[in-house]
Amino acid sequence: MSLNSAAATDYYWPVSGGQLWLPAGRPSQVKPGGTSACFRIDLPETDSAAKHWIALSDAPEWLAKEHWISLRELLDELDSGALFWASRALQVGHWWQRHRFCSCCGAELPAPQSELLAKGELVRICAVCHIRYYPAQTPCIIVLVTKGEYCLLAQHQRSRTGTYTALAGFVEAGERIEQTVVREVQEEVGLNVTQLTYMNSQSWPFPAQLMLGFYAHYDSGSIVPQPDEIKEAHWYHYRDLPKVPPVGTIARQLIDGFVQRCEMSADDKAR
Ligand SMILES: [Zn+2]
Repeated sequence: MSLNSAAATDYYWPVSGGQLWLPAGRPSQVKPGGTSACFRIDLPETDSAAKHWIALSDAPEWLAKEHWISLRELLDELDSGALFWASRALQVGHWWQRHRFCSCCGAELPAPQSELLAKGELVRICAVCHIRYYPAQTPCIIVLVTKGEYCLLAQHQRSRTGTYTALAGFVEAGERIEQTVVREVQEEVGLNVTQLTYMNSQSWPFPAQLMLGFYAHYDSGSIVPQPDEIKEAHWYHYRDLPKVPPVGTIARQLIDGFVQRCEMSADDKAR
């Protein structure tokens, strides 16, 4: 799916229970009926003539059942523009549905004020104690550990697809992300790593993470998978990889980048 951001089109993104409603695999261009909240989610710096709206409802049977879809099923099909909006809609929807009360005084939070929305400020302000609540993302790291022409890939205990992927984990309170990378690799597979390189980031709306992608060089230790998290973990040669995550994920970008680097250096050696 790609969206025409040059045309003055309205795109509606209905969100419910972590799913998007996409008839014919695209956001609706007419406002869906039965919404209890519908507001703009454009960012001020978004360079687009199109307008993007989130649509939300409290009704259990809201819109035609067959058009609700999980973004995980679309990762292969979306271009980066459509992925941005789908991801943003899901995260704003999660914030709306899971942050309904002030965590300080317990009062019910009102809808975002339209004059603030018009300025691109998406916020719910407690009417009693005036605390402001913004949609937030939780930072996480994802790291591909490499050793020459080999990379470390792990299958998670919770994997339903048998995929082998890079290691990932949440940034703890007070931690720098570099510390998180070192700690997560040590915890999950018992290895020490060095020479961290930041690659790229990806908003990951399952439900509200920001993934920060790194490469790290193997330094010392032997693989000991953490049994609660990791089913198995091995070194894989870049020409002989197992089943890896789909295109559209940052894990895949890290793996593809590593393979490309190895191929280029093999070409150099062959010359
Ligand atoms: Zn309050």
